[in-house]
Amino acid sequence: MIKCVGCGSKLERIAGPTHRYMLSSPACFAKYDEVLAHEYSDPALMRTHRLTVDAFAIQHPGDGTTRQAIQSVGLHLARLGIQVNHLRRLEEANNIMLSLGQYKAELVFLAPPAEFTMTVADVAKFAGTPEHVDAVKAWARSAWADWSQHHDYIIGWAEHHIAA
Ligand SMILES: [Zn+2]
Repeated sequence: MIKCVGCGSKLERIAGPTHRYMLSSPACFAKYDEVLAHEYSDPALMRTHRLTVDAFAIQHPGDGTTRQAIQSVGLHLARLGIQVNHLRRLEEANNIMLSLGQYKAELVFLAPPAEFTMTVADVAKFAGTPEHVDAVKAWARSAWADWSQHHDYIIGWAEHHIAA
């Protein structure tokens, strides 16, 4: 077994690809891939898909040395917070993230939580089942909650630019 450097999931040690800056174990990335495969094949899962991408991104923040990873965490955290807290209509959340992208250079490294309550490994077992959507929602909500230390910063940052 190997502990994922990002989310802390304990999975089998396998050989395989990982993301360039969302650092993870190969097994964790494979679980993410499994969830994504089901979402890509079902248009009804598109909303859920955004939560999956956001949750995985903020649980694999890298070590703070990659600018792209810092920006990715900030933007996905902002979009997830907007969705989880229903600050805007869901359809708007994606557009908001795209427009926030122009301010991404302002984002600073946010120290991630020491532990995550749920990981993609908890969700992958429900991939493609009727529980898929609920599993992703629970994961996304918990991932957002785990980042509570930075809620005020990231929502403040997002709202500042949305309002401007
Ligand atoms: Zn992981």
